[in-house]
Parts: sequence; structure tokens; C-alpha cells
Amino acid sequence: MKSTRLSFVALLLGFASTAQAQFVWPTTGMIGSSFWTDRGSFYHKAIDINGSYGTKVVASYDGKILLKGRYSSADFYGNLVAVRHAAGYDTYYAHNSRFADVRVGMAVKQNQPISYMGNTGNAASVHVHFEVRRYNANIYSYAYQIFVPGSRGMRVVPGQKINYAYPGLDAIIPNEIQARRIDAATLNVRSGPGVSKSILGVAKKGQIYVRFKVDGDWSRIWFGGITGWVRTKDTAAVKGAATRKVVWKEAVVRDAARLGGKELGKVREGQIYVRIAGENDFAKIFYRGGTGWVKSAALKIVKL
Ligand SMILES: [Zn+2]
Repeated sequence: MKSTRLSFVALLLGFASTAQAQFVWPTTGMIGSSFWTDRGSFYHKAIDINGSYGTKVVASYDGKILLKGRYSSADFYGNLVAVRHAAGYDTYYAHNSRFADVRVGMAVKQNQPISYMGNTGNAASVHVHFEVRRYNANIYSYAYQIFVPGSRGMRVVPGQKINYAYPGLDAIIPNEIQARRIDAATLNVRSGPGVSKSILGVAKKGQIYVRFKVDGDWSRIWFGGITGWVRTKDTAAVKGAATRKVVWKEAVVRDAARLGGKELGKVREGQIYVRIAGENDFAKIFYRGGTGWVKSAALKIVKL
């Protein structure tokens, strides 16, 4: 019963409720080279984890596959997989012997296998070269690597937390925030991703919601001010609609684009809505399945 109560609280708090997000070590082995080791002509801004050929390599955090293959002309990385996370973070996993069953653009979860350890590319021994980058525009630029702790001789296992704070990691991956229309006649909105989860309410065909998280075949949507999960296949993307976050403490939703319009309700700071039109200083948003007008200044483009 305790867990039911906890999940109910988590639901009310929405996406602000998760514990601090942390990268985990991506494989089994021993650190052979720590961050910022002097390599003569350059500083090694990554961690090398020495281990056995063919050992699985897992995603360090939830994200999407950004790169998979051989890239640099000097073949420094060999078989490379990179994962894009929220808030501008990318993780790179180099010198792999082979890849797991992943493709570019595919969503991966923390601890999901993405490749297998090897010594392809510029690698004297079997190891994983593990980099964390932020706001990186170009894989050939080596200016974006950021600190990863861990000293030579330290043993690591996949899933073990990397003891360092990476702010914003638990933010939403931007392209998961999307306006979605309900395409099924009626659709159960559940407390979690799966048919065994309890039903919070029913969405109707044509209603539009904001999706802000994807888990397998399920999408998490804003539903009447709270959040819930629906099957992704029963929804469709709405083209041309833009997502906006409420930045005022509270904003009144009205039935017309003017201050004297009838009050329909309120939206609160941090909530995300779909903006569908603008008029004077007002924006029209999808609001609990219907539509209404709020002051444009109360909304900001969602950018994470
Ligand atoms: Zn390395």
C-alpha cells in the first residue's frame, strides 16, 4: 500500500518528483586512464575502462542513439556509439568490438546494452573509452568533453552510479515534448506505462495533449492538469502546434483573447501546454482537452 501512496504523490508532483539523475558506469572493468591524463600531444578528456573482449557496454543514462559506426578519418574511436541525453549531454563509447541491436534515433534506457568491448580504432588494448560531452556540435571537436571522476585502478560495474552531479540530466529530451491528438474513440489514461496500471480517466477522440515522456509503447501526457500514460499507437502528432511552458505563478485561462473574457480556469507555473494560435497579447492553448486564451507573456517556448 505504501508504494501506491508513493506513486500517487509522484504523480501529483509530475516530473519534478524524480530522484537526482545520475550517469552509471557503462561496463565491467578497471579504470586504466582517468580524466585529463597527459598523452603528450593532447590531454585525454575521457575515462578508459580496461576489461575483457566482448564485455557488454550499457547506456549510462536514458537517451537516444546519436551515432553508431566508424567516424573519424584517423579512426580514433573505432566502432563508436554515442547517446544523446537531455540538457545537452552526450555520452561516447569507443573502440567497441561490435554493436548491440540499436539504431540511430532509437530510444535507450539507462543500463540497456548498446555495444560490446573491443580494441577497434586507435586502441592498444581492449577497453571502453568513455566520454561525457555537453553542448557538442561536432564529433571531431574535442573541446566539449566534461569531467568524469574515477582514478586509475578503480573497479567499476555497469549500473554503478558515477558519483558526480550533472545538472539537468533528468530534464526531458526535447523531441519527446510533442502535441499529440487522441485517435482512438476513447482511451484509458493510466497511472503508468502498461495495461495493468490503474485507470485515472478517459480521453476522447480529437482531444489534444502534451506528451513529455516516452517509455516503450507508452506516452506520458498532461491530462486534466495531472499526468497519465496512454498507448502511443492510439495517438498522433499534431503538426504546427508549439509547446509552451507557463512561466507565471498562475495565469488565467479565458474564453476570449481579452481581459474581460469569461474565466475558464487557471494554469500554473511549470505546466506545459500546446499553443495553437495568437491574437493581440494572448495565446490560445489546449487546456484540459478544450481550448482557452492566456496572456502570451505567461508562456515561454519549451527549451530544455
Ligand atoms: Zn581513451
